[in-house]
Amino acid sequence: MGVARSSQLPDAAGRFGRYGGRYVPETLIPALDEITAAYAKARTDRAFQTRFTTILKDFVGRPTPLTFAANLSKRYGRRIYLKREDLCHTGAHKINNAIGQGLLALRLKKKRIIAETGAGQHGVATATACALLGLKCHVYMGTEDMRRQQPNVFRMRLLGAEVIGVDSGTRTLKDAVNEALRDWVTNVETTHYILGSALGPHPYPMMVRDFQSVIGREARKQILAAEGRLPDLLLACVGGGSNSIGLFHPFIRDTTVRMVGAEAGGTGSELGQHAARFDGGSYGIFQGMASYVLQNSDGQVVGTHSVSAGLDYASIGPEHAWLRDERRADYVRCSDDQALAGLHLLAETEGIIPALESAHAIGVLPEVVKRVRKGAIIVVNVSGRGDKDVAEVARKEGVEL
Ligand SMILES: *Cc1c(COP(=O)(O)O)cnc(C)c1O
Repeated sequence: MGVARSSQLPDAAGRFGRYGGRYVPETLIPALDEITAAYAKARTDRAFQTRFTTILKDFVGRPTPLTFAANLSKRYGRRIYLKREDLCHTGAHKINNAIGQGLLALRLKKKRIIAETGAGQHGVATATACALLGLKCHVYMGTEDMRRQQPNVFRMRLLGAEVIGVDSGTRTLKDAVNEALRDWVTNVETTHYILGSALGPHPYPMMVRDFQSVIGREARKQILAAEGRLPDLLLACVGGGSNSIGLFHPFIRDTTVRMVGAEAGGTGSELGQHAARFDGGSYGIFQGMASYVLQNSDGQVVGTHSVSAGLDYASIGPEHAWLRDERRADYVRCSDDQALAGLHLLAETEGIIPALESAHAIGVLPEVVKRVRKGAIIVVNVSGRGDKDVAEVARKEGVEL
């Protein structure tokens, strides 16, 4: 196989090696086929791509800057750049995908949108895209996540979306995905499901990757302009895997560029204490795809924990599983405490309060810099801004607001 073939993946069955594919109820296959066909056309359709690019520019505010982090660079002796997805409209990279899929829903003539959300960022992004494009929006969200992310719940409602609390399971992201899939099976004729990360059944991992690859394409151009060469290392946090694959994908064939993903290490290494799928998970089928899954010896998916709702998920996008098998990308874990330290570090040294998710990439930076020589160029994806997390961080640190 090898990375030379990476641009041809997934194959026609939606597989990245032994990962990916489609494991869904039969009733959803026609809808997935319809999306696959419509997306194949949209991908090469000038009008679609122009409309997408125009909205990213005029509404989302792209291209986002690539900021040279002078103080961090000085501290670690490497040239560290930050890709500023925190400056996207709505505060994170999720909007790139929500706009792309919203435009696809218009092509499919489906006026009702459903989505799942963890941190609330994908819900806000989808509600925003729906308001812009005139689509009706229903967002499923675990009630534990609703508690942790109240401002985002209200934001979605302001944007005209209906937020539906999910009380089953651990009341987090995976339960919201289950409810969204259940809704979709029932309403598939009228409804498009805007999945929020590079996972789930084919064609979602591919489609979401493509919509998010604008991050890596811009970063590539920007670093070439700033440094005259490609970076030595890319670093991003990995929940479902969309901001990281968006950054990584345009560099996969540049084998001198190392790629490191940071998973949620939570509070410990026991099952249930973290969401580090590559470090505690195993091959399995979950929510429509084959990938690494945090499961017990009976194949039952276990509860996960992370200080950040957006990384708190039991599986990981199939392309990451493939990249790891190919040893093209490497994945490390970042504990809750390291992530909180990362948030403080970026805030104090660079004047940027990152989302708790993004803080996982910053949290491992002090270790990861050691993988490259002094003076090497590192690009870190700041996937989102931290405003949504300020109250939760204060609570964690025993500060009363
Ligand atoms: C949702 C989210 C993530 C995690 O999702 P990915 O699909 O892995 O990118 C990371 N950062 C932020 C700010 C998010 O909102």
